[in-house]
Amino acid sequence: MLDISTLLIIDDCAADRKIYRRYLLQDPYQSYQILEADCAENGLALCQKNHCHVILLDFCLPDMSGLEFFDKLAQERFDPPLAVIMLTGRGDEEVAVQAMKRGAQDYLVKHYLKPDVLQLAVRNAIKQSCLQAQLCKNRERQRLIATTALRIRQSLDLEQILNTAVVEVQQLLKCDRVLVYKFAADNGGKTVASSVESWETVTQCNDIQAICHEVGGENHHWGCKLAIPQLSEAGLSHSYLNLLKQFNPKINLVVPINLSNNSKPEDQIWGLLIAHHKSGERQWQADEVEILNELSVQLAIAIQQAELLAQTQAALVKEKQLNTFKSQIVATVSHEYRTPLTSILAAASTLIKHSQRLDELKQQRLLGIIEQKARSMSKLVDNMLMVNQIELDKTRFQPIPLDLLQFFCDLMEQAQETLTERHELIFNSSGNNKGFCGDRGLLQQIFVNLISNAIKYSPQGGSVEVYLLGRELDVMFYIKDEGIGIPMADQQKLFQSFSRGSNVGTISGTGLGLAIAKSCVELHGGSITLSSQIGQGTKVTVSLPKQPPFSGYNTASNQS
Ligand code: ATP
Ligand code: MG
Repeated sequence: MLDISTLLIIDDCAADRKIYRRYLLQDPYQSYQILEADCAENGLALCQKNHCHVILLDFCLPDMSGLEFFDKLAQERFDPPLAVIMLTGRGDEEVAVQAMKRGAQDYLVKHYLKPDVLQLAVRNAIKQSCLQAQLCKNRERQRLIATTALRIRQSLDLEQILNTAVVEVQQLLKCDRVLVYKFAADNGGKTVASSVESWETVTQCNDIQAICHEVGGENHHWGCKLAIPQLSEAGLSHSYLNLLKQFNPKINLVVPINLSNNSKPEDQIWGLLIAHHKSGERQWQADEVEILNELSVQLAIAIQQAELLAQTQAALVKEKQLNTFKSQIVATVSHEYRTPLTSILAAASTLIKHSQRLDELKQQRLLGIIEQKARSMSKLVDNMLMVNQIELDKTRFQPIPLDLLQFFCDLMEQAQETLTERHELIFNSSGNNKGFCGDRGLLQQIFVNLISNAIKYSPQGGSVEVYLLGRELDVMFYIKDEGIGIPMADQQKLFQSFSRGSNVGTISGTGLGLAIAKSCVELHGGSITLSSQIGQGTKVTVSLPKQPPFSGYNTASNQS
């Protein structure tokens, strides 16, 4: 079937119009819808009402000349510009030249007009006008893509990039919703940006979640640029095609966001850019598919840049933290080691120089000093290594199902050994403590530090209570003492490394215990807080989920 083109004849002579019409309707290669006007004004009105491909324009009209008509057309700024063939009289070459200068496609001399000459001229004008229209469209598309891409890439913040992208693409494609779906490492994924807030507004989109999930699972074909309307030609495997067809090409246009620039693109599919249109069935046009494809490339570049920046910033922050930490270690080592080392050296040299003169009691006292100081130095080293390990993410978090009551019985026994007769250690528990998973070594770090603090900072003695409350999903731990308490102003910073209360006096310590405990609690996905009153005592509260994140253990199957 031939394409039908709309042609407008503007000529005041009805007989001439009839001839042109007859000639054109004889054209075996082209079909026409022919409109006629007997003056320039009527001709202009028809142009405004109809999309004409070509105008056959008589050079001499009753209300204005053909050239004046040209100027009028130019003022109207038709998009794409109309193709005009000027019909001139014998000896009017001058007019013809002027018409061509003003942009006429061609000119024909009325008196020598033959059917095949007219047909060929009009066909050529149509072809040229189509090319012109295509060019205009491409130019406009490139302009829109460039503006949109610029807006998308203006930011280096991933969230902002994605949110701008969905809004801009929705405006560009004039569809109901645009969303970005990101694949996760575990083959799942989620919608990370959407131009429409609530799911309700575009209900058919709900199933995208499920479909994307499946697609994420077998993303081996995503390397092909997928324009859903042309799915059948994409050379995809049958099962994969079926899966993608569920996107419903009438409402969803889907293209992958591909971060790869190498030959194995399927490894680098970051996610999907999805345009969704639910109001009525929408026939997605090839250039809309192209727009989405090109914008997905721009989006991929923006995502890559944002991710690189985020990685670099994170690395810088980490580097900075490590540097600060290292400086603190150097400062602490030189400061904290000097005092005990001086005592050790003094005691040792007294023993060496005056051992003959010293009685056994005195010798024992000096040896005791050496042992105690060496122990505190060794604890400092252990603590620093522990913090260093946590800081460098070297700690291997290995949660296992734990019987909490047994764990605390063992811990209490150990703590009893370090207790003086002035202290009383009380342990109580209630609720359901079953189904708990945790890393034994890290839990020991937490509670040994907290219990030893409670004892150490109660030099006058008193009771130290450890209380366990099992709840449905988590366990609360309370460690309460009647010691020296902590000044209000110091309480906030005590969970930072090397920080100590201003009221510790001569009680020794490295200021690392609470920082270690906090890091271990956080690895379990829990929280730690303290409340304290100076001279009254301190209560530390730890809350740990029964199933720490990524533990891989299931509460139901691990009931102890
Ligand atoms: P170490 O590294 O040997 O544990 P430390 O006890 O000084 O040294 P943290 O356990 O981190 O370090 O405690 C930090 C500070 O918090 C202590 O120096 C102390 O001032 C204060 N603190 C912690 N627990 C208590 C408590 N139960 N009562 C009073 N003050 C406390
Ligand atoms: Mg401590």
